[in-house]
Order: sequence, then structure tokens, then C-alpha cells
Amino acid sequence: MKIDIKNLSHTYDVEVLSDINFSLEDYTSVAIIGVSGSGKSTLIRMMSGLEKPTKGQISINGSDVNEPDYKKSVGFVFQNHNLFPHLTLKKNITLVLEKTRGYSKEEADKIAEKNLALLHLGDQGDKLPKNVSGGQAQRASIARALSIDPDVIFLDEPTSSLDPILTHDVLHAVEELRDIGKHFIFITHQISFVKDFANYIIFMHEGKIVEHGKPEILDNPQHDSFKHFMKKVR
Ligand code: ADP
Ligand code: MG
Repeated sequence: MKIDIKNLSHTYDVEVLSDINFSLEDYTSVAIIGVSGSGKSTLIRMMSGLEKPTKGQISINGSDVNEPDYKKSVGFVFQNHNLFPHLTLKKNITLVLEKTRGYSKEEADKIAEKNLALLHLGDQGDKLPKNVSGGQAQRASIARALSIDPDVIFLDEPTSSLDPILTHDVLHAVEELRDIGKHFIFITHQISFVKDFANYIIFMHEGKIVEHGKPEILDNPQHDSFKHFMKKVR
């Protein structure tokens, strides 16, 4: 995966991203870490095309993220599962495929079943989100993101609302997806997962990328803000 960020700034009432310049090539699973409020979610919302930056450009795999077609090539999984509560897990997936991708019902059913099975939810597709565990619902939203066959899947703290067992199930499922060649950009506070899963790490502090590199940087942080962060999460 190729990431190119040029002169990126974003302001809500105050500036939350501050002139970020960053390029990366050839990494498949990129973790973004940092304390709450450092701008991680804002950055991946911009990278996924969900929100437009105040200033600057982002391209992923050579496409400008503000081109209309770009959003079709990415999947996004939020902190909370974000499934439609009145639709079954399967219908949550087929709806997207039929309405936004123009698949027939039969095709959509097939894709939904395949991806639910991949996330170990083959027998849960007919249930409503409220009738499955939080981990299962979160895996269903990963299955939904996967169903559009995205080039990159963005995960924003996908396990922050889950207990440790459910967290393990979700992270394990994500690892299996990495092993079949899916690409991820993700935010998490689970440093052990970052160590196992990411092959590149971005540390953010106060709206800037302060340090980045291979997972080894976790063992030898250079900047004070990163040292401080690593002391707290260990
Ligand atoms: P992180 O994900 O690292 O916790 P965020 O990107 O969510 O950080 O937030 C960065 C800063 O931007 C925070 O100070 C937050 O309060 C602010 N912020 C985030 N989203 C909005 C918004 N929609 N409107 C106003 N301020 C926001
Ligand atoms: Mg966040």
C-alpha cells in the first residue's frame, strides 16, 4: 500500500492536524498510536475520504482520496459497530451491496455469506445486532467492510468497547484477514496487538506525526512525547 500526505492540516474550532507531510510505500498493516485527542481519528477519517481536510492532499495507492471513486475502494470499521439495528447481520451486508454496488440479491447473498463465514459468523447471519455479542457485531461490521472488496480497510479502535475475550476474537479475525492479504490502517490502544500485527507504526502527538517506523521503534522511542506514551501503555 502506498500513502502520500502533503501539507495536511485540519481545523474544527482549533487546529487538530497541523501540516502533516508523510509518505510510505510497501507496508501492509499500518498502526496509528498516540494519546486521546492527538488527532488519530481525524487523520484516518481524512485518509478514508469520510471527511475533507481544511488544507492539503492525501493519496492512497495513487488515488486522491477526494475523488468520488476512492470511497468505493475502502472499508471503514468504527469504534462501535455501526450496524443498522433493525436489519439482520446478513441484511446489513447485502443492503450495501445491492444499493451502492448494484449487485443482484443472489450475488449479494453469496458475498455476504462468504464474508460472514470468513469472520466465523456463518451461523449468525439471520440474527439482529442486538441478539449477538458485541464481538460478533464488530466482526459483522468487519465482514461488511470486507464485502465491497476494499483495497484498504480502516479500523478505528475496533475493540475499545469490548471485553478482553471478545477483543481477542476480533483481533484474531483481523489477523486471519491479514494472512489472506488484506491491507489495514488501524488505530488501537492494544500495544501487544500493534507489536504482533503492524509492520509499520505512526505515533501522533498534538496533531502531528512525531515518530514513525518499523515496530522496533516501540522499544526505543526517541521523542519525549513518545517515551512518555510508551511508559504509560506498558
Ligand atoms: P484521537 O482519535 O487521537 O483521540 P481525534 O482525531 O478524535 O483524536 O480528535 C482530535 C481533536 O479534535 C480533539 O481535541 C477533539 O476534541 C477534536 N475533534 C474531533 N472531532 C471533532 C469534531 N467533529 N468537532 C470538533 N472537534 C473535534
Ligand atoms: Mg479516536
